[in-house]
Amino acid sequence: MSRSATAAIHLGALRGNFARARELAEGAKVMAVVKADAYGHGLERCARALGGADAFGVASIADGLRLRAAGHPQRVVVLSGPDAASDLAEMRRLQLEAVIHHESQLAMLEAERGGNPLKVWLKLDTGMHRLGFPAERAAELHARLAALPSVDSAIVLMTHFASSDELDSDRTARQTQRFFDATKSLPGERSLANSAALLGWPRARGDWIRVGGLLYGLSPNAGKTGADFGFRPAMTLTTRLVAINRIARGEHVGYGAAWRCPEDMAIGVAAIGYGDGYPRSAGVGTPVLVGDAPAQVVGRVSMDLLTLDLRRAPSATVGDVVTLWGPQLPAEVVAGHANTISYELTCGVTRRVLFTEDGA
Ligand SMILES: *Cc1c(COP(=O)(O)O)cnc(C)c1O
Repeated sequence: MSRSATAAIHLGALRGNFARARELAEGAKVMAVVKADAYGHGLERCARALGGADAFGVASIADGLRLRAAGHPQRVVVLSGPDAASDLAEMRRLQLEAVIHHESQLAMLEAERGGNPLKVWLKLDTGMHRLGFPAERAAELHARLAALPSVDSAIVLMTHFASSDELDSDRTARQTQRFFDATKSLPGERSLANSAALLGWPRARGDWIRVGGLLYGLSPNAGKTGADFGFRPAMTLTTRLVAINRIARGEHVGYGAAWRCPEDMAIGVAAIGYGDGYPRSAGVGTPVLVGDAPAQVVGRVSMDLLTLDLRRAPSATVGDVVTLWGPQLPAEVVAGHANTISYELTCGVTRRVLFTEDGA
């Protein structure tokens, strides 16, 4: 018997979400961020649906190669840039663009003898303190890059926000100010905004937005769903009920006997678990749908199976479809019960899950 866990990817939602991001961008160019296999939705299928993007953002040269192999002519930006000098040749061959965020990368470029001009994005740290040069060094670094014949003269200036989802903090405004101050005298396009900044910080729009989560209908903001902002979930994760058992009051369910039946009741068993990417951290009470009826996780999530309280789904039958997340049940709600964010849930769906696609 094949396993039932299925991730249906909704290409219509991807297209609609892209159109909405484009609209919110108000004329800025749109980089569709498709790293981590398009946030777990599948790189090739998503790139096809997001074909209107001005550029794709990836985390590795290997993903850039996949996009080129699939025939995408758009600009492709490797968001963490080259790791080794040999990467530069590969990036040129595939016409990928490099984010340059560290002295070691600049040294690789300066050590080159010739080569077709590589397009680069100079990444400045304005306060996140993950990747990037101190913003105050922008002019000096820009001059060093501009002096290299092997670097294309159209250098894009970029930064990344630490907390653009927090609208009541002034950190994003301060990062934005620091970026614009430090780059005031420099030519070239600017790129600051991720999904959360696209929604909440219009001053940070710049020339390029870099949008990931919202394209998949995922909310970048805690306590909100993608639908709250007019975006539609692009993944529905389902499986089937493989058993319904009557368990007596006082009996325990699952590993560690971690949950105890408060009354005689029906426990459903669904064919999905952490081996499929359903989070083991999903606690008792995490909602699922059995058919259209609400049910809840009880006991511990195991590798292949999930136990469910069916008291509110009295007509449930073995074979029923169980929905773990999707348009009817936002991944953000599940993430809230699993101590994580929706991005991690979709990224975590494993290869043994069957992926399908539809036009919804
Ligand atoms: C992942 C990433 C993005 C996209 O972030 P979302 O919150 O998914 O929109 C933008 N810029 C950089 C540098 C990233 O790494």
